[in-house]
Amino acid sequence: MDIGFIGLGKMGLPIARRLIEAGHTLVVHDRRAEAVDKLVALGARAAKSPADVADQVETVLASLPSLQASLEVATGKGGVIDGKRVKRFVDLSTVGSHMAVRIHGLLAKRNIVQIDSPVSGGVGGAEKGTLAVMVSGPRADFDALKPALDVIGKVFFIGEKPGSAQTMKLANNMLSATAMVATSEAVVMGVKSGLDPAVMIDVINSGSGLNTASRDKFPKSVLPRTFDFGFATGLMVKDVRLCLEEAKSLGLSMEVAEAVGRLWEVIIREMGAESDFTSAIKPIEQAAGVVVGKKKAG
Ligand code: NAD
Repeated sequence: MDIGFIGLGKMGLPIARRLIEAGHTLVVHDRRAEAVDKLVALGARAAKSPADVADQVETVLASLPSLQASLEVATGKGGVIDGKRVKRFVDLSTVGSHMAVRIHGLLAKRNIVQIDSPVSGGVGGAEKGTLAVMVSGPRADFDALKPALDVIGKVFFIGEKPGSAQTMKLANNMLSATAMVATSEAVVMGVKSGLDPAVMIDVINSGSGLNTASRDKFPKSVLPRTFDFGFATGLMVKDVRLCLEEAKSLGLSMEVAEAVGRLWEVIIREMGAESDFTSAIKPIEQAAGVVVGKKKAG
């Protein structure tokens, strides 16, 4: 299949690479020339703008870091909306259902179908092709896309309603955000009382406290103190805020999620948007006066 791909970052690059390796023909674009060069070396064609991508292919995928970037790339001047061949815009980014519906409406005016396809599973999942891929949009477009999406992970059809896959993704990410800070608090509490954090994580992973932070994030990035899991704090906070806005617009209050959201606002203030989201533990350690993963002196 001929595929356009815009946004070759931590997720986009390995996803695009897998598509090329599976035999698809890619036309790629990113603001960063070095990211484009990596894909060109693997056989992709470079395009100079989103519209240039959309002039060359019917299906354009995007993996972008903010709502504004998705809006601009899809519907801005020189965006996908100006392309001559494009029929569908597939957004792998997490933008929330309101932005997805807005982009859907703007593209529909030019007979371009907008399809939500947010993903979960991190950089590791993107590299291995084991992402959870949540798709909403017209069933016929889903059927046309599915063979390509199968290459990047397990594909779920969420529904035809625009934005519904985004709602699914926000529910998932709120749980991931909660797991990260709740596990940090639990481990910091144990360390403060003298427990070994590595033993704690082993016990939790064999017990009922098991979650994605204890299973993946602590062993890979927190205990070794590398803080390099591959998901930025700014992106996590974007998703937490989007989930809380989504709940509000549905007339719901989410008590646990709101507490989690307040904690993530402290984390982004202390650690910065560019930090890896596993650094969430640092302000919690600081407040407790302990460091997790370091041997106790004496
Ligand atoms: P990233 O910042 O690493 O990559 C974004 C890429 O988009 C960069 O290469 C950037 O140069 C490019 N870009 C930005 N604006 C652009 C524009 N206007 N035109 C062209 N290129 C532009 O982000 P990421 O971690 O790959 O995340 C991408 C999306 O996937 C986000 O919505 C994020 O929430 C979601 N996501 C990320 C992860 C993860 O673990 N990193 C997991 C699941 C979902």
